[in-house]
Amino acid sequence: MSERAKCLFQRKKCEFTGDVNHLRKSPVGRNEVNFMLNLLEECKEAGRIGISGHIRPDGDCVGACLGLWQYLKKCLPQTHVRVFLEKPADIFNEIKGFDEIDSEFPEEEPFDVFFVMDCGADRLGEAEKYFKAAVKTINIDHHISNPGCGTICYIKPQVGSSSELVYDLMEEGMMDRDIAMAIYIGIIHDTGVFQYSNTSPATMEKGAKLIRYGFDFPRMIRETFYQKTYLQAQVMGRALMESIRFLDGQCIVSVLDKKAMDFYNVESQDLDGIVNQLRNIKGVECAVFMYQTATLEYRVSLRSGERVNVAAIASFFGGGGHARAAGCTMKGTFHDCINNLSLHIEQELLKS
Ligand code: AMP
Ligand code: MN
Ligand code: MN
Repeated sequence: MSERAKCLFQRKKCEFTGDVNHLRKSPVGRNEVNFMLNLLEECKEAGRIGISGHIRPDGDCVGACLGLWQYLKKCLPQTHVRVFLEKPADIFNEIKGFDEIDSEFPEEEPFDVFFVMDCGADRLGEAEKYFKAAVKTINIDHHISNPGCGTICYIKPQVGSSSELVYDLMEEGMMDRDIAMAIYIGIIHDTGVFQYSNTSPATMEKGAKLIRYGFDFPRMIRETFYQKTYLQAQVMGRALMESIRFLDGQCIVSVLDKKAMDFYNVESQDLDGIVNQLRNIKGVECAVFMYQTATLEYRVSLRSGERVNVAAIASFFGGGGHARAAGCTMKGTFHDCINNLSLHIEQELLKS
C-alpha cells in the first residue's frame, strides 16, 4: 500500500509531495477510514482554531466550514475559532457566520488546530500558510483524488459531501437551526439537491432530520441552487448555444473566453451550473465546460453520466474531484485542451 493510501486508513501524520503516479493510474477503489474522528476531543486543548477550504469555495465548502465553525464555537466557548476562505458568492450570506469569514488572509499566530475542509492542502490557496504553521492539522474531505494531508486525514470518498461528513462528526444534542441550515445547504449543493448518485439513503435521512430544525429549506434551495441572475442566465444561454458535440454526440464541450466573460461582466462564480446543464442533454455521457483564466489557460469542469470516470481524467491533468464531477486547469489553446481531453474521454468510453 502506498504512503498516501495508508494515511486514509491510519490516524497518522502524512506529508505528501510529488508522486502522483498512482493517482494517474486509478484514483478509484479507496477504502473507508477505520476510525471515527472525535472533533471535540481533538480540539479540547486548543486555544486557537483555524478553518479553511478550497479556492473558489462552493456551497459544500462554505456549508462545511461554517457548520464546523458554529459547532466548535458553541461547544468550546472559550476557544478562538476563525474561518478563512476566498470570498464566497453572496447567495450564501444567510448562513450564520458568513460575515465572519476572513478573505484577507492576514498574518496570524500559528493555530493550535487547523482544519482543511473539502480539499487537500494543495487547494487552500492563501490559507496554506496557516496549514503549514499549525501545530495540529485535520483534513476532512470526500474527494477521491485527495491523497490527504496533515496530522489527521479523515477522507471518505463514499460520502456525498464534506458537509455530510461534518454532520456525522457532530453530537446531535449540540445541533441547532443555524448549524442545520449550513450543513443542509452544503449537502444540497454537492448532491444537486439529492439528485446525483452520491446521494445515499443515509444522506436523505440526514436531510430529513435537518429540515426538522425549521429553516426555510425550499427558499434556500431556490435561492442558493436554482436561481440565476439575468446575466448568469444569459451567459448560460450563450454557452449552451455555442456548445459542440463530439464522439458521436456522447460528449459536449462549451468554452467562454475572457472577452465573452468581460462582455457579460461575469466571474467564475457566475458560471456555476452551466456544465450540469450541458450534461443534462439527452445522449451526453460526458460534458466539458471551460472558461479562460489567463492567456492560454483554461479552467475545466467535467461531468459524466454513468460511464466516464472524470476524476481519473482530471487527476491526469493535475486536478481532481469525484467520478461524476471533477475539474482541472489546463494550459494551451482551447483546441489543444479539448483534443487532449477527448483522447482520455474516448478511452474511458471504450472501457465501458
Ligand atoms: P467544478 O467543476 O469546479 O465544480 O469541480 C467539480 C468537483 O471537482 C468539485 O467537487 C471540486 O471540488 C472538484 N475539483 C475541481 N477541481 C479540482 C482540483 N484541481 N483538485 C481536486 N478536486 C477538484
Ligand atoms: Mn467543494
Ligand atoms: Mn464537496
